[in-house]
Amino acid sequence: MTKPTVHIIGSGISGLRCAENLLQCGIEVKIVERSDSIGGRMRTTEKNGFLLDHGFHVMQTGYPHSRAEIDFKELGARRFSPGAKIVKSSGGKAKQYVLSDPFRSPVSSISALFTQKWSDLYNIAKLRLSLGFESPDRIFEGSDGTTESYLKKSGFSEPFINEFLRPLFSGIFLESKLETSERMFKFVFASMARGDMVLPKGGIQAYPNLIADRIGRDRIELSTLATPVDTTTLVLGGREVKTDQVVVAHPQREAADCMNSVWTVYFSAPDKSIKGNYILLNGNYEVGKNAIAHIAVPSNIQPTYSPSGKSLVAVTIVGDAANALDLDSDESIENQARLELRDLFEKSDTWETIEVFHTKHALPLTESQSNASSTVNFNQDEIICCGDHTTHGSMEGAIKSADHAAGEVVRRLGISA
Ligand SMILES: Cc1cc2nc3c(=O)[nH]c(=O)nc-3n(C[C@H](O)[C@H](O)[C@H](O)COP(=O)(O)OP(=O)(O)OC[C@H]3O[C@@H](n4cnc5c(N)ncnc54)[C@H](O)[C@@H]3O)c2cc1C
Repeated sequence: MTKPTVHIIGSGISGLRCAENLLQCGIEVKIVERSDSIGGRMRTTEKNGFLLDHGFHVMQTGYPHSRAEIDFKELGARRFSPGAKIVKSSGGKAKQYVLSDPFRSPVSSISALFTQKWSDLYNIAKLRLSLGFESPDRIFEGSDGTTESYLKKSGFSEPFINEFLRPLFSGIFLESKLETSERMFKFVFASMARGDMVLPKGGIQAYPNLIADRIGRDRIELSTLATPVDTTTLVLGGREVKTDQVVVAHPQREAADCMNSVWTVYFSAPDKSIKGNYILLNGNYEVGKNAIAHIAVPSNIQPTYSPSGKSLVAVTIVGDAANALDLDSDESIENQARLELRDLFEKSDTWETIEVFHTKHALPLTESQSNASSTVNFNQDEIICCGDHTTHGSMEGAIKSADHAAGEVVRRLGISA
């Protein structure tokens, strides 16, 4: 008996995960990808010995589905230090201080007592305790206001929000007003408390690459545009093709008004120009006045990210902060990044620019009242879709949706899993 075949449109992490699940259930798959590489938004290219992710990216070991499904050891993943370092310029002088996780680094977190209000540290600890035991499903069924209003309601001071929470979560939600649903904030905060931010040894594309190898690259057709017609028909290169089921694994509405954008500027700096394994948050972050949300040194975490003797510095500028300063070209973004870095790192003028990435369609908006969810319901007559746009904007949302989509295919084809 011939196996049923499913055509999957898109080789981002959701399309690949869905394909892997289906193969395990005895279903044949064909993945069609319009670009010349697999990975979708999780792409990495090598340039002059540096590994450049297409936009600074991390994996979170604390996301519940990822934790259960991804073998982080197989990816050679290494972690950032829990917490963050805040970098600010004040009175012409650069200052840095660490805000570590009070539960995992109680000793180093004591230094925060000298820089932060007691009430803010108490509120962080309270949030960590209350959200740490909340199930994701309950979080996604809960209240759906904006993150900003939730933080204010929770009693955090303006300086704490602006120096710590805003630059951190702007870099995660890719929007600076923190209009993203509080559900997302709670979910991400709880996951970060449970796990670590990690980087795979081979760059962020290492995970899609691993799955593509397991699926078999001959099942993936690159540089081919596909258009779904109905649940069992698609158009491939102008030709209509019949299949047992179509899965669409990409956002369909890629209009700028429904996805957030981000710029990443990569610099080559002498080794150890920035020490430590923390992510660095811009403590002066103020949209309309400056642009950098955060800075990371991936090569401090994974030496594979840079050639020996060099550091890779990744500067993240969220799209709305760039727009507020009318920055819309690689050159203007690079100049702005250099201007702000000069106040924070003495020798940053000597750093060489490697690349500027502009990701126009980086993350689906998950605003308050958008009903961000961790599950997907399928309608029998509709084409099966997966991807982060069907759940929430993260790798976790993408792979969870893919696993749901594969389950729906199995159900529709009447195969016992
Ligand atoms: C800069 C940046 C930083 C991020 N940081 C993080 C992070 O730190 N942590 C985190 O969890 N998430 C992060 N994300 C989000 C994460 O990358 C995405 O949630 C995830 O990669 C989405 O995967 P996907 O499969 O849903 O979609 P995509 O990766 O967009 O894949 C869709 C694929 O479909 C293809 N395609 C589209 N249309 C067609 C067509 N008609 N025919 C054929 N192929 C088509 C596209 O070329 C693409 O390869 C970040 C994203 C960006 C851009």
